Amino acid sequence: MGAALRFLAVLAVALWTAGAAGQQPLRVVATTTDLKSLMEAVGGNRVQVVSLVPPQLDAEDYQPKPQDVARLRDAALLLRVGADYDLWADKLVRQSGRRELARGGERYVDCSFSIALLDVRGTEVGASGGHAHGNGNPHYWLDPANAEIITGTMLEALARVDAPNAKFYEAGRTQFLQRLRDKMRAWDQAVAPAQGKPMIAYHNTWAYFARRFRLNFAATIEPRPGVPPTPSHLAGLKNIIKKQNVMAIVRQPNEPLKHVQFLAGKSGAKVLVLAASVGAVPEAGDYLSLFDYNIGVLAQAFK
Ligand SMILES: [Zn+2]
Repeated sequence: MGAALRFLAVLAVALWTAGAAGQQPLRVVATTTDLKSLMEAVGGNRVQVVSLVPPQLDAEDYQPKPQDVARLRDAALLLRVGADYDLWADKLVRQSGRRELARGGERYVDCSFSIALLDVRGTEVGASGGHAHGNGNPHYWLDPANAEIITGTMLEALARVDAPNAKFYEAGRTQFLQRLRDKMRAWDQAVAPAQGKPMIAYHNTWAYFARRFRLNFAATIEPRPGVPPTPSHLAGLKNIIKKQNVMAIVRQPNEPLKHVQFLAGKSGAKVLVLAASVGAVPEAGDYLSLFDYNIGVLAQAFK
């Protein structure tokens, strides 16, 4: 290696080391993989994000682990879904002793802020039971248009705790939203064959997704969120499947198979596996590919 090249190599390493030492990534904790992915889209290499709920578990039934408290100890921000989706995080925050991560604290981020929630009252039969969507349906990240609001909330929080890098985060968000808009056009086209076709879902997960893409979920296998079906509810579903010519039953990988298989076997409807969160299937590695995967499954099923 010539002297000049050697000098450049040394210089590059020195700059990188200085950069890394002077700019430790901001440690952010999210309750879910979806919020983690959106935060990574905004924060790029200046954030290091962990999700408390692992990719394949149901966040609404999550049992926090002792190491989750440890993860909160040095968190610059705590991102929560809110809308009662991740209530278990309240106890973790108390155990961590970090009041700034609690509701209203300066490092607490409720990502449902400014989102118009669906099913807020009365529109869902018996919403007070089970794990309850009592304060509105919390699955709002499944409308990709809501990512604009969610990342706006994240940007505001990042600018608050890391003001010198606010412009960097703003640029990250702008780039992400441009990619999102391009994707939305592609998804709108690809999903067309599935629009309006009656489907049944296991849990009432898809309200926002269905509204955005004009999908028709005729019923849910759970009579109320979190409540398993009774024989009479299943009989009612069989009727709905027959009368409305339901061609697909949607389940997430972590939902029970038993009733889905029963209804599919009786009716010949297809079983479609959709991902409600990043990482629920290997193809859904980040927020945008979550929709690539789901739209792809629907387009294939109804083509
Ligand atoms: Zn739910």
